[in-house]
Amino acid sequence: MARVKHYLTNDKFDDPGMVIEVENLGDYILFDVGNIYNLDRHLIKKINKIFITHTHMDHFIGFDYLLRNKLGKAQTVEIFGISPLAENVYCKLQGYTWNLVEHEPQIIFKVKQLNEDLFEHYSLDIKKKFAKDFEKEEKAKTDIIYENEYYRVRYAVLDHKIWVMGYSFEYKDRLFLKKEKIKELPLKGKEIGEFKNWLEDESNKGKKFKIGNKEYSYEYLKEEYSYIQKGIKISYITDVLYSPENKEKIINLVKNSDYLYCESVFLEKDEDQAKKVYHLTTKQTAEIAKEANVKNLVVFHFSRRYGKNKELILNEIKKYFENVY
Ligand SMILES: [Zn+2]
Ligand SMILES: [Zn+2]
Repeated sequence: MARVKHYLTNDKFDDPGMVIEVENLGDYILFDVGNIYNLDRHLIKKINKIFITHTHMDHFIGFDYLLRNKLGKAQTVEIFGISPLAENVYCKLQGYTWNLVEHEPQIIFKVKQLNEDLFEHYSLDIKKKFAKDFEKEEKAKTDIIYENEYYRVRYAVLDHKIWVMGYSFEYKDRLFLKKEKIKELPLKGKEIGEFKNWLEDESNKGKKFKIGNKEYSYEYLKEEYSYIQKGIKISYITDVLYSPENKEKIINLVKNSDYLYCESVFLEKDEDQAKKVYHLTTKQTAEIAKEANVKNLVVFHFSRRYGKNKELILNEIKKYFENVY
């Protein structure tokens, strides 16, 4: 499985957040910026992508602390989310005076926000005192908000009496050649790269590849000369009403996740309260996890009304879904 580290930013009762570290790519990703005060400062300096569900205070209050720890190191931080995120980031940054920053290393925040059916891009540069510069907009054609060669992040727009984003991080399966076995083939240099590309392209199933003067099937070559490193799917859902529309969208986004990080704010008995404030109960969270066929469920954003009794909430979920943490 892909070497990816993931964990909550704090205890389950504090303002939410989750980290995904993809060390081999130098990517350190934060989902929501709630209580991040216990995160390692060196890690905060390295965070280069942030996905925000929404800017209710408990999900965004840590932005100041993040900013404080980022000053002094030149970097670009990409922030993703839904409108009015760019305005909220801008207002946070304008809460300070930036007159002595000429000699400061350059920090740029790049915001990509969904606004109805458009993705809007803004740039906020310390050298311009974090003015909000509009860069471009494009039609949102798919449910992918970020993608590179190794992983993608998909989203769904969910109802929390405002629109919020749910996210799914998908590290792709990767094909590697068996080096020792490849040496036995009469392939050299560029040909090896071409052979790997051919194996990676699944549309070659059932086709043949010529090596020397012999032809071999795709299936045989793939089995004999390569192996697959399995990817991983980690989803993050919080601050959602339990409605049929939300449920369908969430299940569609998170299905078959290796890990689903999901809020579970209230106990079953407080279902009415959950509905009133657009949150989930233990049973509702468990039902989503079960119907989406997720392997592991990590719950958080527990209401403080239950004291700090984690077990009370975890045990109630366990009645409906076993692999909960
Ligand atoms: Zn909220
Ligand atoms: Zn919240």
